[in-house]
Amino acid sequence: MNAIHQPHQNTQLTTAKLLINGEFVESQTSNWQDIVNPATQEVIGQVPFATREEVNAAIAAAQNAFTSWRQTPIQTRMRIMLKLQDLIRSNAKSIAQVLTAEQGKTLADAEGDIQRGLEVVEHACSIGTLQMGEYIEGVARGIDTYTLQQPLGVCAGITPFNFPAMIPLWMFPMAIVCGNTFVLKPSEQDPLSTMMLVELAIQAGVPAGVLNVVHGGKEVVDMLCTHSDIKAISFVGSTAVGTHVYNLAGQHGKRVQSMMGAKNHVVVMPDANKEQTLNALVGAAFGAAGQRCMALSVAVMVGETKHWVDELVIKTKTLSVNAGHEPNTDVGPVISPRAKARILDLINSGIAQGAEILLDGRDVQVKGYEQGNFVGPTIFNQINTEMRIYKEEIFGPVLAIIHVDTLDEAIALVNANPFGNGVGLFTQSGTTARIFQNSIDIGQVGINIPIPVPVPFFSFTGSRGSKLGDLGPYGKQAVQFYTQTKTITSRWFEDHQEAGSLNTTISLR
Ligand code: NAD
Repeated sequence: MNAIHQPHQNTQLTTAKLLINGEFVESQTSNWQDIVNPATQEVIGQVPFATREEVNAAIAAAQNAFTSWRQTPIQTRMRIMLKLQDLIRSNAKSIAQVLTAEQGKTLADAEGDIQRGLEVVEHACSIGTLQMGEYIEGVARGIDTYTLQQPLGVCAGITPFNFPAMIPLWMFPMAIVCGNTFVLKPSEQDPLSTMMLVELAIQAGVPAGVLNVVHGGKEVVDMLCTHSDIKAISFVGSTAVGTHVYNLAGQHGKRVQSMMGAKNHVVVMPDANKEQTLNALVGAAFGAAGQRCMALSVAVMVGETKHWVDELVIKTKTLSVNAGHEPNTDVGPVISPRAKARILDLINSGIAQGAEILLDGRDVQVKGYEQGNFVGPTIFNQINTEMRIYKEEIFGPVLAIIHVDTLDEAIALVNANPFGNGVGLFTQSGTTARIFQNSIDIGQVGINIPIPVPVPFFSFTGSRGSKLGDLGPYGKQAVQFYTQTKTITSRWFEDHQEAGSLNTTISLR
């Protein structure tokens, strides 16, 4: 973590503002953290760790705004989303530049980060049909049953550093379009691009108090998880923190979804299209410097595909490691010196535990960016499931290769891993694909797709050790998550209807 200190006087640095009741305000805290460009170590801004009073004020503003927001016509809420999608689209390039400066990923990938979030906002524009209830006429004589999907109240979102555009956009648009109010706690490592999206939301017409933002770390998160006015918490981040948030918020009676760490495999069958497969493996393992929760971390080579490994290494060597804003960069820096140290420690452990290192990115040099947190693409071969590089999420540009003889062995291996975010299969056989999709115990499966993140007409459905809570972010599950189903059973007596007999049973008559 970068030093927490008081901001310098007369500084020209950008500070991340709090958003409380429609006003962007400077925090009064004395705890600030630098926002650092991972390619250069240049300090590009500062983020406050909000005070308890500020967090309470944000929650109170959200609670207060809920009364009128839940009564606001659904078309009005939808039109704000229509405006927001337009504003995000037209500002995407400038947001991407800030995103790359604070997060490190390439400009093209930063635009992808925004685009995937934008798709959720587009989907939120269909709220009129998404939030529609159900109705059955005549469940008994004169009796009808119908459901309402009603907003919960104040909801909160806690987001990770790796997708500062997409993941906040997974959360607040769906929450508020359903009629809730929201308190967002962005990653303290790269909050500036998130704040640009929040500013656009206010510009699009989100009323005061409906969306609020507080910055900070554990103390702020714990306040959100325990405050009695907060009804639901959406968390995305590491397994350790996600488990803590899930337990703490759950103990305080909240609805919680926790999307957490991963170890994603791709199984390669001998009948796969070799060129397509190898290109997909390289992109999925090393794109975004491996800092995607759906990044490929383990390639399971079945049978004769063991002979493809040399070509995989040759292709990987063509990747250009450089600052994210430089043209033609494939692999940018990792987020922080601390993240780099953790990745290097894991690479060292792989070597110590006897994995064969085919490509070693530990000493990568990037001309002009000598201070950057760069780790070059690293490939381990012949690993086993007892090694730390297999068991732990590396969250860096490191691919581990494991060899098996059959599809069944590959399926058993993947199913024995505790994580369940994503898995891929490369094959030209429909039968193999069908067997795989039925027997693999992972929430998101790609068939000849290495990173199967669903579009927002569906939901993000990571499973097992990668997720706590039943309902995922965005799509139909998000509407369920951010609403309470109320079921009404109603009877209207006609004026001259004869009174039935007294009924002491539970039958509807
Ligand atoms: P992180 O868990 O360190 O931080 C996530 C959020 O929790 C941040 O807002 C942070 O301020 C807050 N936080 C940090 N420490 C805390 C604590 N002790 N108590 C309470 N809150 C705390 O995660 P990160 O490093 O920002 O993100 C990377 C992780 O997120 C990886 O493990 C990755 O797999 C995971 N991730 C998962 C998904 C998914 O959908 N499953 C998506 C993206 C990222």
